[in-house]
Amino acid sequence: MFDKILIANRGEIALRVIRACKEMGIKSVAVHSVADADAMHVRMADESVCIGPNPSSQSYLSIPAIVSACEITGAQAIHPGYGFLSENAGFVQILEDHGITFIGPSAEHIRIMGDKITAKDTAKRLGIPVVPGSDGGVADTAAAKKVAAEIGYPVIIKATAGGGGRGMKVARTEDELEVAFRTARSEAKAAFGNDEVYIEKYLQRPRHIEIQVFGDGKGKAVHLGERDCSLQRRHQKVFEEAPGPVIDAETRARIGQICADAVAKINYIGAGTIEFLYEDGEFYFIEMNTRLQVEHPVTEAIFDVDLVREQIRVAAGLPMEFRQEDLKVRGHAIEVRINAEKVPDFAPRPGKITQFHAPGGLGVRMDSALYDGYTIPSYYDSLIGKLIVHGRDRPEALARLKRALSELIVDGQGVETTVPLFHALLAEADIQKGDYSIHWLEKWLAAHY
Ligand code: ADP
Repeated sequence: MFDKILIANRGEIALRVIRACKEMGIKSVAVHSVADADAMHVRMADESVCIGPNPSSQSYLSIPAIVSACEITGAQAIHPGYGFLSENAGFVQILEDHGITFIGPSAEHIRIMGDKITAKDTAKRLGIPVVPGSDGGVADTAAAKKVAAEIGYPVIIKATAGGGGRGMKVARTEDELEVAFRTARSEAKAAFGNDEVYIEKYLQRPRHIEIQVFGDGKGKAVHLGERDCSLQRRHQKVFEEAPGPVIDAETRARIGQICADAVAKINYIGAGTIEFLYEDGEFYFIEMNTRLQVEHPVTEAIFDVDLVREQIRVAAGLPMEFRQEDLKVRGHAIEVRINAEKVPDFAPRPGKITQFHAPGGLGVRMDSALYDGYTIPSYYDSLIGKLIVHGRDRPEALARLKRALSELIVDGQGVETTVPLFHALLAEADIQKGDYSIHWLEKWLAAHY
């Protein structure tokens, strides 16, 4: 086992990893920008190193600074958290060259799931169901029309290099296709410097269902069921739950096995998530994330596992602590993402925290790096906490969420949070019933604000 791990991240996820290290008797090294000198992850780690100025391009994304911090402190492995360098194949390669263990998949696995066309090809090759569409990039309008006629309208045109929901255009008829195709290409060029686009069947009312997988790197892999993350604003998840309200045990076992087999075939190591759109009982692959996800705690709650501990174990060459037959769904869990943003326009509202009180009690977990007197910097993303509740069933989890939200206090100078959004959502019949698609939240926001 490692003696010392460096965490190349900040905020709640850095804390999450430090906590796992402490429980495993591993020393932790925090890295931070100048603005984060007083951050909780710096205080909680055994050691810390300042790796640069405030912009993440010069600190949390600076590979030379992070490798130097490893060399100085003698850390043998790096946990990347999510975001920043967590899916950067070049970074993983450099660590390999320096003899530092990356707690995550190989550079090759990150690459084959990297750009969207390669990822879709890989998924198909591994037996994962994908959305019907073009085979790779589409060169011109004539080719686009041909593909669209084959798969049927409506279609969606997506940038190969896309991300964060950008560079996508829907065409409902052949008349709309020409403009949509040209617009998608020029937007892709402007946003990603690459105008290659591809075409897929547009699903009208799907849910976002993702499967958690975990591999030992030696050909063994398991799945840990699904998370339903359909409640999204601008393709950003805000509320996640496990198990999915519309997924039964048989469906879970079937799609879960397909995903576990797929990653076992490539000797995948550690945590990964295979994301699908789900409509009329069918799963359609959209992408794979080769890292720990923000919403991993709902899976930890219902399966009673510690995914970060497992990541560290397999990275050190130890076997996984769970087998598929040990993994049984227990109750229901929900996570809400608390952002320092004003509802309803979601404009950032960082600032100095004057009072922070985390909720507690049975079945409540709060992952947050806030503390009284802390100043939320404006340089990074606005996630300031995740509230996760676990109950024996979905109604109990919803009641617990409402109770926990009412206990939470985040007061600060100029600080606002997305908590009011969740109070409002919990009062909605559709949310209580679990009846929502990926469009539900946008429609609801448009109707209510
Ligand atoms: P990104 O990496 O930019 O987030 P994704 O391919 O993951 O792109 O798609 C983002 C979102 O766009 C999906 O969660 C879904 O809401 C929507 N979307 C993508 N492909 C389709 C499709 N074929 N039909 C309907 N909606 C889609």
